Amino acid sequence: MELIHSLSDAEASKRPPLDSAAGSFAEPSVKVLLKDVPAVFATAKCLDILEQFIAHPDLYSVAIVNDDRSPRGLIDRNSLIEAFIKPYTRDLYRKKTISLFMQADPVIVDIKTNIDDLARIMIDAGMRNMVNGFIITQNGLYVGMGTGHDLLDEITRRKQAHLYFLAHYDQLTRLPNRLLFGDRLDKACQNARRKGSKVALFFIDLDRFKFVNDALGHAVGDLLLKTVARELLACVRESDTVARLGGDEFTIILENIQQLSDVTVVAERIIGRLASPFSILDNALRVTASIGIALFPDHDSQAAGLIKKADMAMYQAKHGGRDGYQLYVETLGVTTSERLALEAGLQSALENGEFRLFYQPQIALATAEVIGVEALLRWRHPQRGLLLPARFIPIAEETGLIVQIGEWALREACRQHREWLASGLPPIRVAVNVSLVQLYHPGFVDLVRGVIGETGIDPACVELEMTESVIMSHAEATIRTLRELRNLGIQLAIDDFGTGYSSLSYLSQFPLTRLKIDQSFIRNIDTVPANMAIVNAIVMLGTTLGLEIIAEGVETVKELQMLKTSHCGEVQGYHFSRPVLAAEFEHWYKSHHGGEESRPAPA
Ligand code: C2E
Ligand code: MG
Ligand code: MG
Repeated sequence: MELIHSLSDAEASKRPPLDSAAGSFAEPSVKVLLKDVPAVFATAKCLDILEQFIAHPDLYSVAIVNDDRSPRGLIDRNSLIEAFIKPYTRDLYRKKTISLFMQADPVIVDIKTNIDDLARIMIDAGMRNMVNGFIITQNGLYVGMGTGHDLLDEITRRKQAHLYFLAHYDQLTRLPNRLLFGDRLDKACQNARRKGSKVALFFIDLDRFKFVNDALGHAVGDLLLKTVARELLACVRESDTVARLGGDEFTIILENIQQLSDVTVVAERIIGRLASPFSILDNALRVTASIGIALFPDHDSQAAGLIKKADMAMYQAKHGGRDGYQLYVETLGVTTSERLALEAGLQSALENGEFRLFYQPQIALATAEVIGVEALLRWRHPQRGLLLPARFIPIAEETGLIVQIGEWALREACRQHREWLASGLPPIRVAVNVSLVQLYHPGFVDLVRGVIGETGIDPACVELEMTESVIMSHAEATIRTLRELRNLGIQLAIDDFGTGYSSLSYLSQFPLTRLKIDQSFIRNIDTVPANMAIVNAIVMLGTTLGLEIIAEGVETVKELQMLKTSHCGEVQGYHFSRPVLAAEFEHWYKSHHGGEESRPAPA
């Protein structure tokens, strides 16, 4: 999410005004209760009015007006009919003017009065007026009557509608909530089953939304969500459903899908519309989203399964680098045949020694000294060449092979550390990435303890990196394992921080030592003020929790300079070095530090 200060008025005005997605609950006026009942003058004859009441059983009262049609009083049905039941009254009064029966203090309201105010007026005026009704005027002149019955009906109807709204719509964006969404999806699937058509379900998650909230405040966050809701509505047909499930999660149900392009067109439209900046409380914000899509019945024949698959696809989209969409596929972005080949190859890669660790230096900002390295895994595939972890780690995790591969990586990194020491390098920190599957594998703590003992590495030099989602996934169990690991004397870093959902305060419960700010925040930090605000917020809060902070993915001098103003302690990225093999790192280290003997100069 970017903050740009140069949103032109023209650009901002292209967007339609924010309006409600579900029905508005702005108070209607008494106009909805207006009944076109002809008024009479005070000179009208009693018998004529009586006959009117008899002919119209639903006529509760008639207004009496002056010559200029301003209201003067009211005749109510009951009093008149009661009086005329007695024969002598009939004879006595039939030719007399109606003014004799006029009530001079009726309730009179202007047509613009809202219903709630009217209700209050009627209650104050007493029960009799509830039966008689009230006179409605415009500019002080009579326009019609309203009845207490209709008023009560209207209030009840609105209460019911409001209760329905509360239960079925999200209060912030006025989009359908999870409950109504579930209902609509069920219906859409039923319809599609009957008609033999298709439904597309979109799962949309805003990238790094949490940090807009943390860095710019909830008021900005709320307005951003409303704006996104409006933009999403603008991307679909009226018959489609856009819902908010909570937080920054939205869904869309598209019915009657004929071809795949019906789906991709909408996905691209969403990404396109969100790409132009929104002006929110003087901030120009740019928001990106990750969209996962699943199709009924292709990917699942049940609504519940479809939701799960769209959600999985959304995570695939996030892994694919955010700001994109991903149709559900069986495996994480790898086609089935390729996956099978890689899976088979992974089995033998360990035995054949095809894995390599590459090392990327980590540098202290204050002194420009190299204080650590991150070990990054590569697979030297006999046919495909050097493969990056994104290609094979998901498969290794799914098949469980990551346990052995991770064990190899940890042992190899610690062994390498000893080798570097032997060739004169100082005892820098070596960070190894650990995945969820490893962390929950029984005996992981024992393995780490064993490797430390075996290789003789100082545990203070060992750091394990885990992503936010790993740490959050089974909070209770994780805390226990992390404590045991910390007790070994090693360090624990949270990787890619800012891409998950954890709040910094929640993190204080975990025995962590370091926070790695995700590279997406570092990217363009010099041109995107929001990124700088976010980095500052992370650094500040992280520091108060006693965590060291490292920024990853630093590519340019400008990014580095900006980071220097943020009190972030350490940096890592292509600007210093790409991940390289151990020998190359050793060489780089020595030249970075100006030869083996001399001390490094601060940057
Ligand atoms: P990560 O731990 O967040 O690693 C940082 C990634 O960013 C690395 O990608 C690194 O090459 C890349 N990078 C570093 N500096 C820059 C930069 O300035 N600009 C850009 N654009 N990228 C930069 P890599 O090596 O492809 O690793 C990807 C991910 O795979 C890692 O993300 C980590 O989560 C995982 N991984 C790597 N090695 C292992 C391992 O041994 N075990 C496990 N479980 N996961 C691993
Ligand atoms: Mg890492
Ligand atoms: Mg990272």
